[in-house]
Amino acid sequence: MLERNQNTIGTSISFCGNGLHSGLPVKLTLCPAPIDRGIVFRRTDLDGSPEVEAKSKFITNTLRATTLEKGNAKVFTVEHLLSALFALHIDNCIIEMDSPEPPVADGGALTFAQMINDAGIVKQEKNISILTLSTVESVYDGNKFIAALPYDGLRITFTSINNHPLLGTQMKDIIINPESYVKEIAPARTIGFTWELDALRKMSLGKGGTLDNAVVYSETECLSKLKFPDELVRHKILDILGDISLVGPIHAHIISVLGSHKLNAALSGKLQLLK
Ligand SMILES: [Zn+2]
Repeated sequence: MLERNQNTIGTSISFCGNGLHSGLPVKLTLCPAPIDRGIVFRRTDLDGSPEVEAKSKFITNTLRATTLEKGNAKVFTVEHLLSALFALHIDNCIIEMDSPEPPVADGGALTFAQMINDAGIVKQEKNISILTLSTVESVYDGNKFIAALPYDGLRITFTSINNHPLLGTQMKDIIINPESYVKEIAPARTIGFTWELDALRKMSLGKGGTLDNAVVYSETECLSKLKFPDELVRHKILDILGDISLVGPIHAHIISVLGSHKLNAALSGKLQLLK
């Protein structure tokens, strides 16, 4: 069985901001955790500080963002923070929040990756197994799909086909390691469209979004300053890493065409069964 050492962070580190969808103010603190504790969200604003582990069995909603729920411990839009922890190989960490949603921060995962690097990555004296595949696992939804193929390492290929004149068809293929992640993926922000904003706000979503922490397109132009010409597909890869992190360390080539949090969650569920 393939293994690597477990890791936690060196010290507690905090960041304050507002949630992307709820707009609620939140203090996020990442704390070191012992061997085998896993990634755990702790709601410090609720009686008894209830916890929910970052595991696929606790996913309860995947509309626009991923929600984890256990008892009254509910957290949502957790995929960007989870993506950074996963890509930087943090296996044990208590995530304290005094609100259900982490801060939107930079809109991607760069703030979280910097917090982890600032806190320091500490090797722990026990190994964790890395899931490896011997067959292809896939999930389809009409013309959309996500598949995980056997691969020595972690590679993600995402294709987006969008009829917006400035987006069109984009593909990004990247081998994920901490360095490539911080440079190529972590800065990529969520994409939004002006005509969706009213509908989102009616569903109480997107309240913390701005032209800086999201890439907003109108029908004819991009209202935000892009960090990459293909920021859309890079952010989709960021999201996949966050959603797949719920399975734990994995070696696979993940290929997605028009994938979503829903498909990512379905694939995580299938991969979980292989463990
Ligand atoms: Zn996202």
